[in-house]
Amino acid sequence: MYDVIIIGGGPAGLTAGLYTSRARLKTLLIEKAFTGGQVMTTEWVENYPGFEDGISGPELSQKMEKQAKKFGLEITQGSVLDVSLDDKIKKITLEDNTQYETRSIILATGSNPRPLNIEGEDKYRGRGVSYCATCDGAFFKGEKLAVIGGGDSAVEEGLFLTKFAETVYIVHRRDRLRAAKVVQERAFANPKIKFVWNAVPEKISGDDSGVKSIHIKNLLTGEQSSIDVGGVFIYIGYNPNIEFLKSLVDLNKNNYILTDENMSSSSPGIFAAGDVRAKPLKQIATAVGDGATAGVAAEKYIEENF
Ligand code: NAP
Repeated sequence: MYDVIIIGGGPAGLTAGLYTSRARLKTLLIEKAFTGGQVMTTEWVENYPGFEDGISGPELSQKMEKQAKKFGLEITQGSVLDVSLDDKIKKITLEDNTQYETRSIILATGSNPRPLNIEGEDKYRGRGVSYCATCDGAFFKGEKLAVIGGGDSAVEEGLFLTKFAETVYIVHRRDRLRAAKVVQERAFANPKIKFVWNAVPEKISGDDSGVKSIHIKNLLTGEQSSIDVGGVFIYIGYNPNIEFLKSLVDLNKNNYILTDENMSSSSPGIFAAGDVRAKPLKQIATAVGDGATAGVAAEKYIEENF
């Protein structure tokens, strides 16, 4: 029997684990792939306080994991299939049928890249279509690439891709970026970046060797055209990872978990932290704040209920 089980090992989950372990609660963190979450696939982080010159995403993730483990956080790899309630005790079942019991749960499962759902996207996934510039950028030395989206991820990762690519086309559906101003300024000043405004991709084409072009439509004129590219990096936002929860907690219309200011969900003893939670700002700095709050709230819940 655990006091706390944290599902998800990104900054929110690792911070929650740091707080609950340090509070001497028996805590297990279950992570599907690798700790660090999206930070692990981020080349460089420069807006997380305490690292004046910035820090690589993987290094920041490792530091967070080490710090939480120092206080006794247990980490296991597994994919959660189901969460059920037996009065106040919560049961977690993994895909391999391992079962755990716990007094409280902190959901920190983050979110997954949203697909464009256009022709060719699935066919060329891993052969030119990518959702992770840090993972795949180096395969495209000297090539032309397209990045889809106009948010922080699209523009930051587009900038990163200029390290390898000859030209990076940022294809955005409006004529104004959503990304932070400082990131926009860098992109506008980078001669390798070309913007394709008011345009959406309609199809990705290629051959046996991978992606060859992207077909786009101008939303103002209706004009269709294609750009020759060797890769397409898709950054049009994320979907929360909540499949295993079924209807256990209340969600907003976009399927993000609703919480109060203590990170409590609609189900007593179940908390949510980080990108999986409905909130206006999704950053590492806000994820760790959520994790700390959820950890302390779980501690209080256990004190009052067990
Ligand atoms: P985002 O901010 O939601 O931006 C998604 C972009 O994709 C928007 O420009 C959106 O266009 C476009 N888009 C959405 N659906 C589309 C579709 N079907 N077809 C074409 N374009 C589409 O997502 P994000 O950039 O991944 O960022 C997610 C969160 O993480 C944000 O809160 C962001 O600030 C944060 N983040 C922060 C940093 C950082 O601080 N360094 C880095 C990465 C991410 P519209 O603009 O027209 O809606």
